[in-house]
Amino acid sequence: MHPNYRGQFQTAVDQVRSEGRYRVFQDIRRKRGAFPKAIWYPNEQTQRDIVVWCSNDYLGQGQNPCVMEAVKSAVDATGTGSGGTRNISGTTHYHVQLERELASLHQKDRSLIFTSGYVANEATLSVMSRILPGLIIFSDALNHASMIAGIRGARCEKQIFRHNDVAHLRELLAAADPSAPKLIAFESVYSMDADIAPIEAICDLAEEFGAMTYCDEVHAVGMYGPEGSGLCGQLGLMDRIDIIQGTLAKAYGMIGGYIAADSIIVDAVRSLASGFIFTTSIPPSTAAGALRSVRYLKQSGDVRTRHQDRAAALKARFRAADLPFIDGPTHIVPLLIGDPVRCKAISDYLIEVHGLYVQPINYPTVPKGTERLRFTPSPFHTEAMMDELLQALLDAWSHFDMADTSQGQTTK
Ligand code: PMP
Repeated sequence: MHPNYRGQFQTAVDQVRSEGRYRVFQDIRRKRGAFPKAIWYPNEQTQRDIVVWCSNDYLGQGQNPCVMEAVKSAVDATGTGSGGTRNISGTTHYHVQLERELASLHQKDRSLIFTSGYVANEATLSVMSRILPGLIIFSDALNHASMIAGIRGARCEKQIFRHNDVAHLRELLAAADPSAPKLIAFESVYSMDADIAPIEAICDLAEEFGAMTYCDEVHAVGMYGPEGSGLCGQLGLMDRIDIIQGTLAKAYGMIGGYIAADSIIVDAVRSLASGFIFTTSIPPSTAAGALRSVRYLKQSGDVRTRHQDRAAALKARFRAADLPFIDGPTHIVPLLIGDPVRCKAISDYLIEVHGLYVQPINYPTVPKGTERLRFTPSPFHTEAMMDELLQALLDAWSHFDMADTSQGQTTK
């Protein structure tokens, strides 16, 4: 590489480092049958047992024996990769069955699988303006990076409404050209702030102003609603959302993303979206595992109840200890630290001293000054693990003199 280029790469990394948000990936291996326990490899010579507190395998489905068995038997039956794009030999019976299952989960005509939830958002949103010339996209200010990328890719007018602010959304809709096609893009569960969208009010506005609705249910599918159909399912609003987007990578414990919608919407996206067309489809074994996982969670209301119960138990402990966490209505428990360097230092302390792993969340994932540790209790985090975590946090709090900076900051 020419030295000038090297210097510029170095400058880019140095900049990130100087802002205290240089990312260090923890090297871990999850232990089958012992979720949420894992082995941590701080370096090549050392390994330590840890408890993971930040996994998005929210329900431990990645280690559910029936899901693992579905993956293994699909590999035995059909091999590894899919061998092509969906159009060129990569549509296997596993993909077809999974798409049927996801469509029925969301009570839509059809669904469409993508390589990831990120790609599902990016590919679908970016193609909307080709289908709807003159489109204006109304986007919640805290929408995920993948939706932002999709909206940028659409190269159409966009209007950003303040997070969950229905009055602001109304103002923007009212000010827009009444004849322009419109789409409101939002998430049901916001994973960094642990809050939920005013979905019904958004649907009402969409109806009033003739807009389409696009809801990212990545942090809700499998975990909320009858059969795990998401928050829109829980609220009885699925039929008022035009495009429901989800992931197979979180509650379902696999990888891949999808949309579910009317047949004609899916047909148009399938026919035009580059991120769907020009890439190899997910492995058949992945589709088989996801299919098993979706079916399993359809019938597992008790797992969902236990999940919510565990989240409530952790929040109760944080509340009693006066820790500055965001006390929201979801399963996610963000603990505010407010400084990137300190956030990383506390995370390092927790894993090194206490064997507890929670990754620091810094800018640009969250706004500067709101850096946090994001805890995701699962149905498998025990009372003893929660007690251990609380003691470790209280120790870290005094070790880093956090009491002065955090008193009374509990939000919501
Ligand atoms: N949407 C939201 C709201 C997300 O938080 C994420 C990932 N964390 C995605 C989409 C992307 O999903 P995936 O991990 O399946 O790519």
